[in-house]
Amino acid sequence: MEIYQLQVLRTDPSGMPLEWISYQEAAKLYYLELVAYTCGTQLYVLRGGTNAKTGRQSIIEVNSILATYGHHHGSCQVDAHYAPPLSNPALFKRDNHICLYCGMRFYARDLSRDHIRPISLGGTDTWNNVVTACKRCNNHKAGRSPEQAGMQLLAIPFTPTHAEYIYLQGRRILTDQMEFLRAHFPRKSPLHHR
Ligand SMILES: [Zn+2]
Repeated sequence: MEIYQLQVLRTDPSGMPLEWISYQEAAKLYYLELVAYTCGTQLYVLRGGTNAKTGRQSIIEVNSILATYGHHHGSCQVDAHYAPPLSNPALFKRDNHICLYCGMRFYARDLSRDHIRPISLGGTDTWNNVVTACKRCNNHKAGRSPEQAGMQLLAIPFTPTHAEYIYLQGRRILTDQMEFLRAHFPRKSPLHHR
């Protein structure tokens, strides 16, 4: 019985990060011979069936980073207009669980998605118009813009690139995976300092 599962970082053959996969999905990619090469550390050793001819048991060693051929579930990241899906967990992680109005750190349950320019005033539900706010600050701001409410934003919101979004989606990111992702972040990404 395992308590948690380590995630495998899947990349394309050029090393561009694509998505997180489970070790079962990784094993399938090995089986389908779609693994181009591996990096990082060994996470799992899987024992398969016994080969009828050789009498040997097949063994698959799953590493933390897999460069693969073939299709993936992630969206195409080469499109300049690419924006990853917006979700509260990813948004809160982008802002490091800090309310961008009062600057305090909170648990996710005490945070909310604030629309800088409220929807009622024509604001959109997009990465560049949303920030993490504690419920108190969000209630105080209500249906107003920061200027109208006399509140100042502590950081500028940004739309994550695909590599940044993969970081935001990660649950337990290993050091080697983090180094790999960081190498693909934009140079000025605030996520470098995490
Ligand atoms: Zn706050």
